[in-house]
Amino acid sequence: MDIEKFMELMSENGFFYPSFEIYRSKAEVGGFYDYGPLGVEFKRNVIEKWRRVFIYPYQDLIVEIETPIVMPRIVFEASGHLEHFTDSIVECTKCGRRFRADHLIEEELGKRGISVKTEGLSLEELDELIKKYNIKCPACNGELGNVKPFNLLFQTTIGPYSDNIGYLRPETAQGMFVSFPRVFNLVGRKLPFGIAQIGKVGRNEISPRQGLIRLREFTQMEIEFFFDPENAKCPYLDELDVKLRIIPEKDVAAGVKEPREFRPREVVESGIVPNEWMALFMGLATIYMNELGIPLDHQYFLAKLPEERAHYSAASFDQMVYSERFGWVEVSGHAYRTDYDLSRHAKYSGYDMSVDRRLAIPKETVEARVYPNPQRIREVFGNEMSRVMQALGKADPNWLINELNSRGKAVIDGYTITSDMVFIKEEKRKVHVERFIPHDIEPSFGVDRIIYVALEHAYTEINGKPLLKLPPDLAPIKVAVLPIIRKQEYVSIGRSIYRELSMFGIRAIYDDDGAIGSRYAKYDSIGVPFAITIDDKTPVDNTVTIRDRDTRAQVRVGANGVIRVMEEAISKKLSVNDIARLMGLQVIVRE
Ligand code: AMP
Repeated sequence: MDIEKFMELMSENGFFYPSFEIYRSKAEVGGFYDYGPLGVEFKRNVIEKWRRVFIYPYQDLIVEIETPIVMPRIVFEASGHLEHFTDSIVECTKCGRRFRADHLIEEELGKRGISVKTEGLSLEELDELIKKYNIKCPACNGELGNVKPFNLLFQTTIGPYSDNIGYLRPETAQGMFVSFPRVFNLVGRKLPFGIAQIGKVGRNEISPRQGLIRLREFTQMEIEFFFDPENAKCPYLDELDVKLRIIPEKDVAAGVKEPREFRPREVVESGIVPNEWMALFMGLATIYMNELGIPLDHQYFLAKLPEERAHYSAASFDQMVYSERFGWVEVSGHAYRTDYDLSRHAKYSGYDMSVDRRLAIPKETVEARVYPNPQRIREVFGNEMSRVMQALGKADPNWLINELNSRGKAVIDGYTITSDMVFIKEEKRKVHVERFIPHDIEPSFGVDRIIYVALEHAYTEINGKPLLKLPPDLAPIKVAVLPIIRKQEYVSIGRSIYRELSMFGIRAIYDDDGAIGSRYAKYDSIGVPFAITIDDKTPVDNTVTIRDRDTRAQVRVGANGVIRVMEEAISKKLSVNDIARLMGLQVIVRE
């Protein structure tokens, strides 16, 4: 694949290109990309496809919300991001340039033919590697300083006071944890249930250099799926007709590089994936990638070792997709976040994040109760007896028993109570509910990386001409309406078909400029799956041809019904050959 040609096609046709182009010489700000008109449309379709795979089939369980991208400091104190969301940075003592230490080590050693894995290494271990291999500044060959942590949160202030610090969210997740109590109420206080959110996030990456793969501002699609860890059955797991390719944690630890194939239920039964819901989302992630045009052998899940996992995760898998340009790229992360986030927010906010668990069998509990001994109290306190009885009634029985056991007395409202003044009884009680904090599984997708790998996979060339084989439901433009030449009769028919498609909500383009062959080539290169051509037969018998982008096959259909045919072809992902077969028509091959 000609990567240069592909990248040029993407920017020239308005899929994506670096932001702030006019200031490139004046402001060095990498890691930001614009989407042009085709890119925006494609992104919308990629996101809608995600909803179709992850939300709509489970709409009884998963609801979508939208929360702010700027959040107050306390949210990230609670979430642990202020402490843990760091990368390693190293500065050249001579020229002052700063580098992401782990990447620098891997790159510099890679140049010497030495392969090291730096993920999960401590700052000290990175320092040792720099010293051991005498790694220098790649720009000026100067000495490197010590490796330090660098927090990736973008900081801002909220309102007019500089001490009211806020941060750009680095994941959409925190908005879902913070609003958990309200959304839990909205869904009728039932578990399991999931909250989904799609939106922008910011990470102040140290040196983003890989286009859409490593951005400072990007879009995530995430689900926080809450469940009772004592009842984590997923009724949909066996519905999935898909194989999961995984390198399990044990294999990763043993240095195995080849994924193995499993059925979704198998991975849970064998303990590779800790939870049925997690297996469901991994299965759906595989299907989703497939629908975006990524074959099974170009994707797998990589288990993360404990030292490689994020601070909140008890088990993690990265979904990896192959890219010709970047090698294996992580497109989604699947984490078992347990009750970490809700517990932390409960602690920092003081808000109760626990929910009720109805017990199938009521639990018997034993509670200690304290009753006064009126006779003895009268003997000691005489007239003040009733005041002492009142004070005893207010006291916490557990505290009172503890005081009597440990000190032989307890002082309540100034009265000294001793063991002979009370009777302590243990009473049994039946409890029907107990409180617990729900556990959470999180599938987290980066839209921009997905857009990149899907476009790269769709790109091919036929006789040196680019062809973008996007699935019809994802293609930004579905139909090109092309009069074979610019003749008034053809133009007016073409324009009216184009208008009808537009009014019908089908994304289309009308073009009568230039040779028909070069117009076909142009629309093939931006992935338009169908072209409707108006030719010399059209005014005679009111027919047009539909041309297929991938096979170049054509079929002639009545102009009046062409909108309906197009709608069906796009929604059912039909080719021109399928259309011909279904309508009993002949396929024409001209080119
Ligand atoms: P993480 O929370 O780091 O597991 O990220 C979740 C997903 O967001 C990843 O699987 C990527 O698809 C995406 N992602 C993470 N960092 C970046 C970045 N700097 N640029 C673009 N996408 C990213």
